[in-house]
Amino acid sequence: MKIGITGNIGSGKTTICKIFETLGVPIYYADTEAKKLMTEDPLVREQVKLLFGVKAYLQDGSLDRKYIGSIVFNNTQMLTRLNYIVHPAVKRHSTQWAKSQKKAKYTVKEAALLIESGGHDALDKIIVVTAPLDLRVQRVMKRDNASREEVLAREDKQMPESEKVMKADFLIHNDGDTSLVQQVHKIHRELLSLI
Ligand code: ATP
Repeated sequence: MKIGITGNIGSGKTTICKIFETLGVPIYYADTEAKKLMTEDPLVREQVKLLFGVKAYLQDGSLDRKYIGSIVFNNTQMLTRLNYIVHPAVKRHSTQWAKSQKKAKYTVKEAALLIESGGHDALDKIIVVTAPLDLRVQRVMKRDNASREEVLAREDKQMPESEKVMKADFLIHNDGDTSLVQQVHKIHRELLSLI
């Protein structure tokens, strides 16, 4: 089985995946893999260069994140085009990765834009992590040393949490009151019972 885990900025996706890891579940961190693919996948590199020009990559071959970030941050059309390159590449790569995890009963793909990117189509079940906006903002401000405005600007670019919840097969409430470990263990047992 292939499981997806998503939620808005600072909801606690990565924290929760670390708990799944302790149960031996293989995790695919889509944002990390997307960054790798943009540097290492020849087809993705070609497409990125066609979209942004040769300035997309630095002399040493690494991606010029600052340059690309400065373009896409205020240009929705360019961000959409970039996503059209990266999201299908991540979908292909994560499907291959999941197939290679032969010993696992199920795998988990973690992605902030799982639903927005259509990546959830290829998955069997979706877990959505929720947390109150104020708490998420506080956590990300602390983690990234960012201002409230910066965090809210990133939140504004994501699908509202309430819409994600409607797509969920399982919900995890990361409100600081309900034990995350207990919630993860319960979902783990339920998933195993489905196999
Ligand atoms: P992003 O969408 O930005 O990648 P995320 O959903 O993966 O974020 P995390 O990085 O797991 O979220 O959590 C955001 C921050 O909040 C981290 O610094 C994390 O340690 C902290 N955090 C998450 N859950 C809790 C919790 N239950 N109690 C205290 N701190 C928490």
